[in-house]
Amino acid sequence: MTAERWTEAADGSSGEVGSGGDVVDLLSTLIRFDTTNWGRGRSAGERKAATWIADRLAAAGWSPLVLARDDAPERANVVLRVPGSDRARPALLVHGHLDVVPAAPDDWSVEPFAGVVEDGYVWGRGAADMKDMCAASLATLLRWAGDGVQPERDVVFAFLADEEAGGRYGARWLVRADASLFAGVEAAIGESGGMFRWLRHGDRSARCYPVGTAERGSMHLRLTARGAAGHASRPGPTSAVTLLIDVLHRLAHHRWPMHLSPPVRAQLAGTAEALGLAVDLDTEAGVEACLELLGHAADVAKFTVRASTTPTMLDAGYKVNVIPGVATAEVDVRCPPGFADQLEATLPGLIGDTVEYEFTSHSLPISAPMDGPWFEAIQDAVHRADPKAVVIPYCMGGGTDAKAFAPLGIAGYGFAPLGEDPQGRIRQGVHGVDERVPVASLRWGERVLDDFLRHV
Ligand SMILES: [Zn+2]
Repeated sequence: MTAERWTEAADGSSGEVGSGGDVVDLLSTLIRFDTTNWGRGRSAGERKAATWIADRLAAAGWSPLVLARDDAPERANVVLRVPGSDRARPALLVHGHLDVVPAAPDDWSVEPFAGVVEDGYVWGRGAADMKDMCAASLATLLRWAGDGVQPERDVVFAFLADEEAGGRYGARWLVRADASLFAGVEAAIGESGGMFRWLRHGDRSARCYPVGTAERGSMHLRLTARGAAGHASRPGPTSAVTLLIDVLHRLAHHRWPMHLSPPVRAQLAGTAEALGLAVDLDTEAGVEACLELLGHAADVAKFTVRASTTPTMLDAGYKVNVIPGVATAEVDVRCPPGFADQLEATLPGLIGDTVEYEFTSHSLPISAPMDGPWFEAIQDAVHRADPKAVVIPYCMGGGTDAKAFAPLGIAGYGFAPLGEDPQGRIRQGVHGVDERVPVASLRWGERVLDDFLRHV
């Protein structure tokens, strides 16, 4: 690994590259670094964005580390530990990823890597996922340097590469390469939570900030079917394609049993309570009725109450009148917290023995305590800024870098605060077109992040 201690801007400047410490300017500049991650190791590279951040931090007096794999110097990460006033207390990790998914400029109404600030939004790929949080973290660090702020506990900031493709150059690699970077860390905050949303049901409404306290497991399954190749006019009893279709049909249509994990239960109960609705979460029928009743307010819960096996990729054949000898498929498998054993016990029977299968990726579900000091500190920080809001735990449908840190015993929370926009603008376009984040939401979020980190 290469680990460079950054004590002054690499180009000898003061690090004043394009913007001051304002979170909107910082985000706009970060978006202008094209950090596209195409997956399978292909990427525009995060180094320019990483070294710009390191330059800014160094110019403010911090000494961040810039870390990259020896075989991929362009896939750089920045890690900075800010010592707390009481170093005996468990440390907190604040992580954000610098890479972004690809953007096709023709589909956008603005240039995706121009960092446009217009109509009350910051526009561009990464604006909402998740250079917004990176910019808020950076703004906080620059302010702390200027004001001489010291948090109570150690806070480790990590600006990471490669989240969008599984973290082999980012979080997962760092954990393996040098776990001491995260020594003493007990909890982490990162993406997918802390964003304002209205809960609505009929004429009832509640101000809400969902906070991720769990993530479903996500596993990718590759199926390979083999059969006799030959002329399609003389089919045999089974072909690779037919065998594969039979298995995919079973997987796609399998109704996985309901598994109401504690975070999803807490989400449904909290949402119903905030809206003054009575629900029964003790029976399967009750949970189904609750999901129906809450509708949009239940958000992702309708997906996280059970596992799913969704075929997404198919590959077979090269000519319509030729039976191919091999057919393959990839299946996206999602697993609620606490259901992994049952899922893995059921899958082999469901797949059967007519095709071969292997997991090409395998991340187990994670969950963090919903009671205790960390969640309470998040709640308190939100309430200081928005006293009437409810803070409700939830289980993410997908996954984040938090999974990479979980083996170190780090409890991962989805808390990247974003406030309500007074004009009702909302963040949009994550992984889609015209990604943007409201300026007012971003500024609110930065204040809450700073306040949270000072008090936690
Ligand atoms: Zn993200």
